[in-house]
Amino acid sequence: MTILPPATLGMLGGGQLGRMFVVAARTMGYEVIVLDPDPDSPAGKLASEHLASKFDDTAALDYLAANCQVISTEFENIPAETLESLAKSVPVHPSASALRIAQNRQLEKQFITEQGLNTAAYVAINTDHDIENARSLPYPAIMKTATFGYDGKGQIVCDSFDDVAAAFAQLDKQPCVLEKKVELAKEVSVVLSRSQSGDIDCFPVAENQHVGGILDISAAPAVLSVAKLEEVKNAACKIANGLDYCGVLAVEFFITSDEAVLVNEMAPRPHNSGHYTLDACYTSQFEQQVRMICGLPAGNSRQHTPVAMWNILGDIWPDAGEPAWDSVTALKNAKLHLYGKKAARVGRKMGHINCLGGDNQTAMNLLLEIKQALKP
Ligand code: ADP
Ligand code: MG
Repeated sequence: MTILPPATLGMLGGGQLGRMFVVAARTMGYEVIVLDPDPDSPAGKLASEHLASKFDDTAALDYLAANCQVISTEFENIPAETLESLAKSVPVHPSASALRIAQNRQLEKQFITEQGLNTAAYVAINTDHDIENARSLPYPAIMKTATFGYDGKGQIVCDSFDDVAAAFAQLDKQPCVLEKKVELAKEVSVVLSRSQSGDIDCFPVAENQHVGGILDISAAPAVLSVAKLEEVKNAACKIANGLDYCGVLAVEFFITSDEAVLVNEMAPRPHNSGHYTLDACYTSQFEQQVRMICGLPAGNSRQHTPVAMWNILGDIWPDAGEPAWDSVTALKNAKLHLYGKKAARVGRKMGHINCLGGDNQTAMNLLLEIKQALKP
């Protein structure tokens, strides 16, 4: 089914990903209704209509189903059941089944393994009884809660097996995965789109640097051998096909110091490491998401300019006022994106800057220059 403008699209979640989706959709002439309890949500402010209700508010969900021709989500912690019940009356992408897998690290790792792909060695820990199974893991290892982790939250490093019980207790004995902390040569990600009929299109692979578990810099194109680029793209396609996925999907990879390719995790939505597409590709990941859920073919995902994206966290805000944005706006190759969040907290994603250049190094140099200028 093809959904054309000026149809109304529904978005569950009002964060920055929802906001950039709203911009792409409204640019194309669609209307968007955003559901998010925060009256000040970044996406709600730009939406055609904002329902400031909880995600389990039945009246709000009924309203969305009645008034939208298709519904998507920007955030994987929506209960899969909510998508399932909406899907009875309106198309929903991603599907509840894809979301259910992506929102639980145990199911996610099991699914990845079933696709014949590798993850870091891990064990699932649900009860104290399972801890014994972790004795054979290589250490150090990282304990991660199976659900609700993001930006490195809900993770504890265990230097040896002796630390495992305490880490599990510290995470309130929630279901967890304990995985080997691998030696990273690089982290890369593939953002792709897959249509309802199964056509896949990959954006260029991005190379990612994290600081304290949060994405700091994404640069594209990634500097990898042609064989490795093919390997990660093929792995991401396998995952998208295995999920019978419709929409934009991101897959994060570890490339280890001994050159193994391991799947880290996936996100059933546009991704922070795909923000570079906004200014460096002919089509952004957000337009691609609109296109996929509306049954349109993928737009041209080719990259036209080398780029380095810097994530702006609340950490750089001075005690009073705003960072010196004029140091960014003065630069013709720096593209400033701010999400309209009022409270700048440490670790909170406030915006990003896409730094363009004639080559990767020039783009990265510009990024480093800006980082220096905005240092608190
Ligand atoms: P989140 O859901 O918070 O993004 P991730 O599992 O992707 O969680 O972890 C965040 C970052 O922490 C990763 O991008 C990577 O830099 C580091 N990390 C996570 N797991 C491992 C691991 N097993 N080995 C080495 N580094 C890891
Ligand atoms: Mg991650």
